[in-house]
Order: sequence, then structure tokens, then C-alpha cells
Amino acid sequence: MTVTLEKSVEDFIATPRQLFIGGRWVHAASGKTFATPNPATGETLANIAEADAEDVDRAVRAARAAFDGPWSRLTASERGRIIWRIGDLIDEHADELAQLESLDNGKPLAVARAADIPLAAELFRYMAGWATKLEGNTIALSVPYMPGAEFHAYTLREPIGVVAQIIPWNFPLLMAAWKLGPALATGNTVILKPAEQTPLSALRLAEIMAEAGLPDGVVNVLPGYGETAGAALAAHDGVDKVAFTGSTEVGKLIVQAAAGNLKKVSLELGGKSPNIVFDDVDPALAIPGAANAIFFNHGQCCVAGSRLFVQESRFDEVVEGVATIARGIKLGSGLDPDTQMGPLVSDEQLRRVTGFLDSGRTDGARTVAGGNRHGERGYFVEPTVITDTSPDMAVVREEIFGPVVVASPFSTLDEIADQANATTFGLGAGIWTRDVSKAHALAKRIRAGTVWINCYNVFDAALPFGGYKQSGWGREMGHEVLEAYTEVKAICTQLHI
Ligand code: NAP
Ligand code: MG
Repeated sequence: MTVTLEKSVEDFIATPRQLFIGGRWVHAASGKTFATPNPATGETLANIAEADAEDVDRAVRAARAAFDGPWSRLTASERGRIIWRIGDLIDEHADELAQLESLDNGKPLAVARAADIPLAAELFRYMAGWATKLEGNTIALSVPYMPGAEFHAYTLREPIGVVAQIIPWNFPLLMAAWKLGPALATGNTVILKPAEQTPLSALRLAEIMAEAGLPDGVVNVLPGYGETAGAALAAHDGVDKVAFTGSTEVGKLIVQAAAGNLKKVSLELGGKSPNIVFDDVDPALAIPGAANAIFFNHGQCCVAGSRLFVQESRFDEVVEGVATIARGIKLGSGLDPDTQMGPLVSDEQLRRVTGFLDSGRTDGARTVAGGNRHGERGYFVEPTVITDTSPDMAVVREEIFGPVVVASPFSTLDEIADQANATTFGLGAGIWTRDVSKAHALAKRIRAGTVWINCYNVFDAALPFGGYKQSGWGREMGHEVLEAYTEVKAICTQLHI
């Protein structure tokens, strides 16, 4: 059984989608299109114009014209009201957007409706408030080589300019919101490239943003491939900043491409986050918590709790509890109301994740739940729990980005602090204990951008998010993100002359 699609969704996917440049829908300069598949079936869902370098040029010109023109002439309050309206319109179209997201990405409709869509709406409303609160400082000077001189010095916080934003497929609309909200609140203009696997909700968002009153050219949306459109954006001399979310590997390519004009770069990259369960905790809390930490969004979360550490005396109990949950998860199409876990996003991800499952077996790890592809149609993988690993195995070191958790025991706080940090990543961590001092002592020692205590995957527009080490540069959300989208200008006037 599946839900009936809204008429607007049927129409949206039946119409070949174009690029959104300068407030208009246009064909790609090359005339090329690409198909976005339905991950539950592998069949084509919709056809989309495929942007490349020439379209990137056009979009950069449109974004520059909007930056120099209408967008910078709006007051902060007017800007804020448009951004707020985007949030409200997302709420008004929540059912439709959730269906598009579920179709294109594969995630259960109920999850998209309860998490992705409202979080995106809230993100815009939170950021709308910042538009009127961007302030500089007045600064007292004591220039040592100019005794007696007096100055009036202050700072201005200004937008960076034209920003390219390249986003992944795991939370398509929400990642667009995380990127667009702060860029717009701070007065930048944007060229957004959604992931090739999931362009639909960003294209629908372009319509919503226009309806909210966003002037032409402020946000341009260019679906296309990373190696072409994405690379052209990252290298373009007319782009002042590039913001990227995705793999650490591509993040490094972005940094290299950005070197040409030394554009600013912010990166939100991969993770291999430790989730640590102490033996004093109630298993009824920690077991579903650990399962949710890895299985939410099919493990396709940069911050997934993919390394589960359990204190020795409870290891068997917690691992068996998580394995029991894994075995009971109902896989199916995201549009089936009974589905608890949908397909992975693409054939490529299916092969990647099952490749890791094979490597774990070859390396001698033990699979206690799952371990295989599910069915023969669509890109489904069984929720999987692996034990008996060693630190050098690929399943322990590398980001799998699927519903696969590796579990190992630990004994002391010192030992687990070292193990938690024994990774090139530093995105998130979870700690489950009743002992408040132990929790905070360990939280301080973990080199990661987010530490959750007795919870996991809690996100809020007000809470900064980002990575230590190779998990990224800069922070998204919270007031910290404003740093990533503004330049600071120091202005110094000599008085009494
Ligand atoms: P990816 O290649 O890093 O893709 C992320 C975004 O970057 C997409 O929009 C992609 O376009 C674009 N891109 C790819 N190559 C580019 C290039 N040379 N220059 C500029 N942009 C480029 O990630 P993926 O291939 O979808 O997934 C591979 C792995 O990345 C996953 O298994 C997972 O480990 C990791 N990942 C992490 C996150 C995260 O949230 N941190 C999200 C997604 C994936 P295309 O869509 O056309 O490739
Ligand atoms: Mg890719």
C-alpha cells in the first residue's frame, strides 16, 4: 500500500524541470537533461535540465546583478520578512514537499513530514530574525606611536557576495535550508547546486522563494553533476565563497578548486561518530537510543552514531537489544505508511554499502544482524550490526553512510576517550550515562563538534553544527554560522583634525 500523491506532486514530476536562473526557468545551455530515479524501484521519477559551466556563468552573473542591485537595497527588516515568509510557505506546502522528498530520496514520508520539512521551515524563521541583528562594534584605540591622538573606530559586518552552495542528497530540503537561511539573512546572493540524486525539493523551493518575494537572481538553482556544474562553481572567479556539504574526499577537491581566486570556503563533511554507552544507564533508554543513532535516515547521516561502544558488563545485552531492533525494522517504499526504513538513495550507495559489508566479512568481523541487500528491486539494505572488529578494518575506519553499526566493548573512561578520538573525523558523539560528572568529563575530552548526552540526532536551528578535524571547516546554524557568511570591515576615523 502507498499513499496517493497530491495532484501538485504528480504535476511537478510529470513536467521536465528546468534550471532557475535570474528568477526565470530556463533550459540548460547544452540542452542536456538527466533523470532522477525513484530509489524504491530504480525507475525514472523525473527529468531535469543538466547545468554545466555555461549555465554556471549565467547564474553567477544573475547572482552578482542581484547582489549589486535589488537585494542590497532592501532594508534588513524587509529581508528578514521575506526569509520568514519562506519558512511559512514551507509549512503551508508541508505535505507536498514531504511527498517530493520521500519520492526522490526514499525516506519514509512520515519522517520527512515530522523532521525534514518542519526543521527546514524553522531554520528559515530562525535565520529571518538575524537579518535585523547583524551588528558591528565600537572599539577604543590606544595607538602607542600616536600619543594624544583620538579616533572613532567601529566595525561593519557585511555580506561576502556571491555564494555557491553545493549540497548532498541525504536531507535535500533541509540541507538547502541550512545553507540558504544564513546566506540570505546576511545579505548574500546564492547559486545552489542540489545533489544529482535529489534535485526535486530544491526546485520546488525555488518557486516557493519567488512566491515569498525574493527578488530575481538572489537564489539561483542549478541541478547537475558534481564533476561538471559543481566543479565549475567551486572554481569560478566570480564566486566569492563556496559552502559545501558532502564527502570529505570531495571537500578536499573543493578546497583545491577554491584556491584559484582564494574564495572563502566552509565545509560540512563526513563522520564516524562514537556513541558511548556506560553500564550505569537504563538499557531501555540506551538501546533504542543507540539504534536510532545509527538507523535514523537509513544511516545516511553525516553524524550517524556508527561506532557503538558499550561498557563491558552490558555489552552483550545492549548489542543484542540493538540487533533485535535492527531485525524488526520494516523496510519498504517511503510512501508505504508501514515502512520504517526506506531504500538507500541510489544504486551507487547500495554498491558502496554492500561493498563495506563484504569487506567486514572478509576481514573476519561477525555480523549479528542484517549484513545483506534486502530484496532485488530498489536499493534496500538490511539494518546491520557488526561485532568482533579490529581498529584497522575499513568498516571501523571509514564512513559507510548506510544502516551499519560496528560495536565494541570498553572498560574505562580514559580508554574510551582515546578510542572515541581514534578517527580522522570529529563531527559528533553520544554519551549515555546517569553520572553527570562522568558525562561532562568525557564530553570535554571528545574532539567533535557536537556531543549529545542521553540523546542523539537532536538538531535545532539555534544549535551550531559542524566538524573538528577532517569533518569540516566552520559551523552551520546558531549565531556561529553568521561568521561564515560575513566579512568584517574595520573603519577608523581620526578626530580633531
Ligand atoms: P559527494 O560526491 O561528496 O556529493 C556531495 C555534493 O557535492 C553533491 O552535490 C555532488 O554532486 C557534489 N560534487 C561531487 N563532486 C564534486 C566536485 N568535484 N566538485 C564540486 N562538487 C562536487 O557525495 P556522494 O557521492 O553523494 O556520496 C558519497 C559519500 O559521501 C557517501 O557515501 C558519504 O560517505 C558521503 N556523504 C556525506 C554527506 C554529509 O552529509 N556529510 C552527505 C552525502 C554524502 P553530485 O550529486 O552530482 O555527485
Ligand atoms: Mg557524487
